[in-house]
Amino acid sequence: MIGGIEAGGTKCVLAIGESPESIAATHTIPTGSPDETVAEALVWFAAQPSLTALGLATFGPVGLDRNRADYGHILITPKPGWSGFDFAGALADGLRVPVAVETDVNAAALAEARADGSVGSLAYMTVGTGIGVGLVIDGRCVHGAAHPEMGHYYPRRPAHDDGFAGVCPFHGDCLEGLASGPAILARWGATLSEFPEKSAAHEFVAHYLAQACHTLFATTSVEKVVLGGGVLQTPGLRERIAELATDFDAGYLPGGKRHQIIAPRLGQMSGITGALILAS
Ligand code: ZN
Repeated sequence: MIGGIEAGGTKCVLAIGESPESIAATHTIPTGSPDETVAEALVWFAAQPSLTALGLATFGPVGLDRNRADYGHILITPKPGWSGFDFAGALADGLRVPVAVETDVNAAALAEARADGSVGSLAYMTVGTGIGVGLVIDGRCVHGAAHPEMGHYYPRRPAHDDGFAGVCPFHGDCLEGLASGPAILARWGATLSEFPEKSAAHEFVAHYLAQACHTLFATTSVEKVVLGGGVLQTPGLRERIAELATDFDAGYLPGGKRHQIIAPRLGQMSGITGALILAS
């Protein structure tokens, strides 16, 4: 039996199964302080059949280089108490099993690529409390100095959209500062689903997310961008993003017709399935 944890900013999903495709049980706990969160996770796993390995798909930034002392540690974050916490180490000590670590979005990308079966290169973008992008290229999650943080790149601002400073505490009008759930709420005082399709709010958000999709196709040559997260529950938004991304490409990119913008095949289960893949 293998275990997985998908750790998000507000909640953690726990799961066990014989394989990533056969999940036997799941459980959700709130993300509190590091000690509270780990303790609550250990209580649940202790009541399950024993594990041989655990996969941790976590919010970032997180150390992913197995040759460094900070592997599996949460790096500098505004989340109170979590900076420097040895998340993987605390779980490995508590469960006495090896723990493999990825970002939540890289793990989700891995799970979506596997579920698709026909692609080797895919990006998974989640748009909710924040914007995160996971990348699988040639079947492997992308790492470098750390891990991709494409939610914090600066999109081009249309001339008629220069009046909003953006909400990212680090960058102001980066993608997350302009198109995340909190940015939409700060700007329009409501969620996107409360506005009619084709409203200015829809168009601005679709514009920024379509730029991000075009940028992913242009820089990484992924075949598919999977768009998930709470903001993508907005009716018609994904389709509008796909239309605008095609406009942005203007027929230039090689393989353009093979570029697809799609919904997650695994629905809400991409991240936790990815965590179990890490353990398998
Ligand atoms: Zn930012």
